[in-house]
Amino acid sequence: MSKIALKKNDLVVVIRGKDKGKQGKVLKLVPETNRVIVERINFVKHFVKADRSRNQQGGVMEKEAPIAVANVMLYCAECGQGVRARSRRHEDGTKDRYCHRCDTLIEKAK
Ligand SMILES: [Zn+2]
Repeated sequence: MSKIALKKNDLVVVIRGKDKGKQGKVLKLVPETNRVIVERINFVKHFVKADRSRNQQGGVMEKEAPIAVANVMLYCAECGQGVRARSRRHEDGTKDRYCHRCDTLIEKAK
């Protein structure tokens, strides 16, 4: 299992596949399969059975399916494209993430 470099709420851009060029926010990391779920990306139809106990109607639903981490990159608004992140570690162990291309701060350490 490799570590996913992305984090929840990162803005990413799809670089391969049917959603190539689309952007979205990371909703969930799936480290078991090295995938992420990205908002509005990789929508798939799936059938839901009616479940009266949960007051759920049956039918076709569309939902985000996990997408391979290799198919998305962190999006940098300055560069207008997917980029690699570069981390800079502070003395207290927290890290800022910067765009590898233009050095824009992408995420400030919390
Ligand atoms: Zn950049």
